[in-house]
Amino acid sequence: MDFAASLEQIQRRIRAACDRAGRDPASVELMAVSKNHPPESIRAVADLGVRLFGENRVQEARSKIPNCPGTLRWHLIGHLQTNKARDAVQSFEMIQSVDSLRLAEELNRRAEAAARTLRVLIEVNVAGESTKFGYRPPQFLAELPQLNALRRLEIHGLMCMAPYSTNAETTRPVFRRCRELALEGEKVLGAPLTVLSMGMSGDFEVAIEEGSTLVRIGTALFGDRPRPVRASSSDNDD
Ligand SMILES: *Cc1c(COP(=O)(O)O)cnc(C)c1O
Repeated sequence: MDFAASLEQIQRRIRAACDRAGRDPASVELMAVSKNHPPESIRAVADLGVRLFGENRVQEARSKIPNCPGTLRWHLIGHLQTNKARDAVQSFEMIQSVDSLRLAEELNRRAEAAARTLRVLIEVNVAGESTKFGYRPPQFLAELPQLNALRRLEIHGLMCMAPYSTNAETTRPVFRRCRELALEGEKVLGAPLTVLSMGMSGDFEVAIEEGSTLVRIGTALFGDRPRPVRASSSDNDD
């Protein structure tokens, strides 16, 4: 895979989508989703100037991060079990996949113990897919005050995934609903929710047109993912 060429093409497509939407390209951050990819590939992409990386499993990330440049920023984007919350607080600057009050409370406890604050996004399941994690919209709005009361968590915005489709256009209503939900959440909070993490390799241009501020790109940057390598039988955090 020619990472320089794929990165350049992704950046060009981000700029074009911003042009169509009348947005500043600087308002969209690119995350390289490096799950299943080895530190050598991560270093190669980091050498091109990418700083933000996403991983979906805590143990995999913890084994790779020490072998990657110390200047990189790491976000967790996969479902987190409460028994991995302590490790996650240690390893990630942001958890994008907060999908229950119970998990948020555990993260808050662990952040308190580590004497830090933790940035989070709330994962919402706008399309109601039973195979995916994330809050359904009504429950998100109902629990938002309790989530916001957790002093060690800073809620920066929402993360969502659209159902897989070969026609990216079908994802548009999902992204639009996610942005509306963020606006409804802002009313509940009386504070801004500035981050909208939405859009992956197959649908990031539509997501940008609908307001995404952070696109999570794996395959279009790294190529096809190798199969996951399990570190141990306890590595079951997905
Ligand atoms: C794997 C993954 C991505 C990246 O998907 P690609 O289609 O490879 O770009 C983005 N977001 C989440 C939550 C993921 O798990």
